[in-house]
Amino acid sequence: MSENNGMNAVIEKIKNWSRINSPWAIHFNSGSCNGCDIEILATLTPRYDVERFGIKLQGSPRHADVLIATGPVTLQARERLVRVYEQMPEPKFVIAVGSCALSGGVFDGCYNVVGDLSKVIPVDVFVPGCPPRPEAIIYGVVQLLESLKAGKRPEPMTIAEPVLVNESEEE
Ligand code: SF4
Repeated sequence: MSENNGMNAVIEKIKNWSRINSPWAIHFNSGSCNGCDIEILATLTPRYDVERFGIKLQGSPRHADVLIATGPVTLQARERLVRVYEQMPEPKFVIAVGSCALSGGVFDGCYNVVGDLSKVIPVDVFVPGCPPRPEAIIYGVVQLLESLKAGKRPEPMTIAEPVLVNESEEE
């Protein structure tokens, strides 16, 4: 192995380690009713506080590792969604949040809806629910990171297990 190749391998290892320990995410609403978006924002509140795991929501696709998208894809949002996805550096990952992002949900078949997210961009993790709870969204991110830790790109997966909630915590 040449000195350059060795150096590149070390840099790639450091980049991968950083990505796993502090993935930066961008949020995009491609036609959601806002229910799922509110749950994503709830994950940032002190109650769930995803930043303690290093997960940081930020605004530029050029700095994002993960695209967290909600809603079905509308005709109006399709081009913007593709543009945001294309601006993200490789390797990039997509988490589809909510039933509408999985299947079009209640908006499926509407005149202005293209369909679910995977019709427009590749999706790595699907988090079902209408809307999914913050725990389910965090679990989706963790599943993605587990795959990266294992050194592989995730097979497209659906977080099918309901996330159980202790009702007493709800009060
Ligand atoms: S899954 Fe439910 S909450 Fe989320 S965008 Fe669709 S209708 Fe709204």
